[in-house]
Amino acid sequence: MSCILCKIRDNKAPSYKVYEDKHTLAFLDINPVADGHVLLIPREHTQYIEELSPEIWEALMRTLIRLVPSIQRAMNAKDSNIGINNGPNAGQIIPHVHIHIIPRPSKAGKLLFSNPARFKPRKKEYFEEIAEKIRKEIEAT
Ligand code: 5GP
Ligand code: ZN
Repeated sequence: MSCILCKIRDNKAPSYKVYEDKHTLAFLDINPVADGHVLLIPREHTQYIEELSPEIWEALMRTLIRLVPSIQRAMNAKDSNIGINNGPNAGQIIPHVHIHIIPRPSKAGKLLFSNPARFKPRKKEYFEEIAEKIRKEIEAT
């Protein structure tokens, strides 16, 4: 299995995790479209959302509505973009279901997945600081 998200799930690849439970896991996107960009995944590997059982989908949605306000609070954002690229023709690069949670402070400007600025190298400290803020907010819920 060469799926990077399965490797992150299994701690065989590094990541900045912010939340995990029996069926779901969330960690920082390595090339954030905005500060605090989180990927929420089911532990189970499937490419398409329609391959998930209703039970797992429900678990994913429960985690989503728990995490969104916490991520927003951590990043001083009132709103978020939440999205799924469901298949390669829809821009899915990693074939393991993942939900993008992108907090949007009011003056954050345009949201562009293609913005080259998101691919600039970032220090470990950048990710650690954001992950810690988000974890604290989640733990407080
Ligand atoms: P997709 O286009 O498949 O919906 O999004 C894949 C996302 O995964 C992108 O936002 C990309 O930055 C992120 N990503 C790619 N490789 C890694 C990785 O190794 N670790 C983490 N945390 N995120 C990754
Ligand atoms: Zn996978």
